[in-house]
Amino acid sequence: MQVVESISHLRVLLDEPRRSGRTIGLVPTMGALHAGHQRLIERAREDCEFVAVSIFVNPLQFERKDDLDRYPRDLEADLDVCRRAGVDVVFTPSVTELYPTPPVCVVDVRQLADHLCGRFRPGHFSGVATVVLKLFQIVLPDRSYFGDKDAQQLAVVRRLARDFNIPVTIIGVPTVRDPDGLALSSRNRRLTPSERARATALYKALCEARSHIAGGITDAEEVKRRARAAISPDETVRLEYLEVVDADMQPVTVISAPVIVAGAMWVGETRLIDNLPCIPPSADLEA
Ligand code: AMP
Repeated sequence: MQVVESISHLRVLLDEPRRSGRTIGLVPTMGALHAGHQRLIERAREDCEFVAVSIFVNPLQFERKDDLDRYPRDLEADLDVCRRAGVDVVFTPSVTELYPTPPVCVVDVRQLADHLCGRFRPGHFSGVATVVLKLFQIVLPDRSYFGDKDAQQLAVVRRLARDFNIPVTIIGVPTVRDPDGLALSSRNRRLTPSERARATALYKALCEARSHIAGGITDAEEVKRRARAAISPDETVRLEYLEVVDADMQPVTVISAPVIVAGAMWVGETRLIDNLPCIPPSADLEA
């Protein structure tokens, strides 16, 4: 496995597999790798003949400097994970390698970023789309892998590829969870034991919403009210949002087709997000 920090070196390394027609898979990450990232890498390994993983904590997508500074970083452990998973090349650029000067051109993400995390993190999806576009331009992957856990991000990346005619296939990978349902996240490392115990509240609320939708409640307000009530806020836990949206991340009022129930919750100083796809019985019958 090669570990490269420079764009030019990476391009040289990718030249041979590309010229010999090997399928190139890219897994973009911010490091602090866990079993969720590993699942993405495994999928890439199954599908592609050459697998690149990028590890880059992208300042452009952090709207709060304290969050950027506190983001977990563990490069040596990450490289071990990649080595064991059979990755061909790990790209670990510095901030100055990817942004030698503050970018003048960035990607403007419109409707898709209006709700959910986009509402609470202004500029976040512009930062995500900009760095993903750069990574696509640098690696020129045939396929790229993203987690369903970040459903809005996945929707933005799919739209980015379409709107900019990027010849890459975007693969969404189901969320990997701990046995108690908590979605794996690099941010989980920051939770204290008592915060970790409370962190499943969001998943439980999403499950509550899913069972009401499966049970035939079509009024999204009612579903949200019941799901929110499943979280008892205290000094540790605060729900930021819980919404019912369609595949374009737009709010739904009447649930008559498959939807996504998505939420963000603060546990102490840590913000966690999660979502579940939900299918109403009416959609079931039509399927
Ligand atoms: P991050 O390092 O948090 O930027 O995540 C890198 C990629 O891993 C993104 O596409 C995430 O959606 C994906 N990912 C993060 N957590 C999980 C998880 N628990 N299950 C599946 N994919 C995940």
